[in-house]
Amino acid sequence: MKTVIAIDGPAASGKSSVARELAGRLQYAYVNSGAFYRGITWWVLHTHTDPALADEVAAVITRTKLESGYQNHEAYLLLDGADATPNLRDDAVNRSVSAVSRVPAVRECLLAHLHNLAEERDLVMEGRDIGSVVFPHTPYKFYIDASPEVRKQRRQAQGQTDEIALRDRSDSSRPNAPLIIAEDALVIDSTHLTVDGVVGEVIGRLKLQGLPVPAR
Ligand code: C5P
Repeated sequence: MKTVIAIDGPAASGKSSVARELAGRLQYAYVNSGAFYRGITWWVLHTHTDPALADEVAAVITRTKLESGYQNHEAYLLLDGADATPNLRDDAVNRSVSAVSRVPAVRECLLAHLHNLAEERDLVMEGRDIGSVVFPHTPYKFYIDASPEVRKQRRQAQGQTDEIALRDRSDSSRPNAPLIIAEDALVIDSTHLTVDGVVGEVIGRLKLQGLPVPAR
């Protein structure tokens, strides 16, 4: 397995901007696991499957061919050859992604893809359970948080309708792989920090841990 840097946190905490910037600075690949869950959710809706019916969601995923890999240092997921990227932020996807992510068959299937990606490249992976479940043995774990007000503002500034408080409650309370702070994760409150500020804190910690970081 290559080096894995795990970045977890609630919705709109700024972890995507931080993870992407960090991957660039380290010259690692970037994996947005939330985009994979969103891609599956889009597929579930696209195939007219009810996202609330776990058995039907599991069945549709079992008959779908999932392919993952890298393009331009960023991971992608294809569903029967279809690329969900243009639809990942659809309101319907925002509304249903937590329900789909609860389905054990969905998590199992994506877990295998996320593990495979780390066979190929050093990477920064963001999500909810990366440090706790997907790569519990990586020594490089971060949990990025921000106040609920600031997170709501950040999402609104992106022009999105997204009930993040609802999604966080669902993600934190599910029985399998809930959003939790891994015991050995460094928690960074990004409420009053810029992306560069958070990346600076992450890099400071990685250097202390002995990870080589290219000079700017
Ligand atoms: O990161 P993002 O907000 O795009 O993630 C969308 C949703 O995908 C989350 O609300 C959660 O339900 C699910 N997710 C997950 N596990 C991950 C990443 C995302 O369950 N590792």
